[in-house]
Amino acid sequence: MRIEAENYFLEVKWEETQPKKAKPISEIMEAFVKKLEKDAKQKVPIHGKRSTRVFEHEALVLSLKSVTEERIYFWHCEDSLRIIILRFVFKLMDTTSQTIIRQVLDSFKCHGEEMSVWTPPESTFKVPPSFQLTDRKMLIGRTYLLLIEHKLAPFAERRREILFEYNSMANIRFEDEYKDLSKWMEKRYLKDLKKRYRGIKFQSSVEEKIDGHLAVVKKGAGRSGLTTRRSSLYANTTWYCEDLNRIYTVTTSEHIARPWPLRRRIDERAFEDFSKDFISTIRCH
Ligand SMILES: [Zn+2]
Ligand SMILES: [Zn+2]
Repeated sequence: MRIEAENYFLEVKWEETQPKKAKPISEIMEAFVKKLEKDAKQKVPIHGKRSTRVFEHEALVLSLKSVTEERIYFWHCEDSLRIIILRFVFKLMDTTSQTIIRQVLDSFKCHGEEMSVWTPPESTFKVPPSFQLTDRKMLIGRTYLLLIEHKLAPFAERRREILFEYNSMANIRFEDEYKDLSKWMEKRYLKDLKKRYRGIKFQSSVEEKIDGHLAVVKKGAGRSGLTTRRSSLYANTTWYCEDLNRIYTVTTSEHIARPWPLRRRIDERAFEDFSKDFISTIRCH
């Protein structure tokens, strides 16, 4: 679960535990730091560690300071049998930030009724029911969803995918690129996209309006595989939402695989309509 605004975001994670078998929170905290260091490939700048209380539990709080400032709370809720990690990331730790932390901590209830935290309206979109949510990740500052639709035909497999992704605190994390989306794509995203879609190449680029923002729309294609040749079409739409300070990037694709040397073709018009229809359902703020 995640809450975001222009200059901060907050993330709540939990893990279920067995009665009397929960690891000490200090161990959970260490594992968390190790994971951060592994992801960042460098030492995490720890600014402080101390114990505190959240709701009715003993908790540990970790302070990190780099380009952003973080407070991360760890505790074990014996009542709901969960380890809870509550993470605040701010541009600056000022009095407003401290007030937000206070308010969230004071209203946080990890057991009793349902876990409840205030959430603002998130971005929405609509997909045809034939699509299934296949993968979903919430990383630091980055969230993505992958939806896939499979269709089988004799000697062919057709697949459509929607990769919906956003990056928060864009004006801080991508200070030099957030205003130039092609540059952002080139420097910050294309490598990741190529890991998922090998052989992807974009050929053309146009500008369009998405939910009031100017977006860059790129079209491309790809081909891979030796015995089972695969043809793919791609459309990527990337925009900056000032309202939530996020960079959204959405890639729709269609893939067809057939044993070589059968001819393989994707109906380009149908793919284009599908991509456009999907993009038109997005509300980003
Ligand atoms: Zn609790
Ligand atoms: Zn927006």
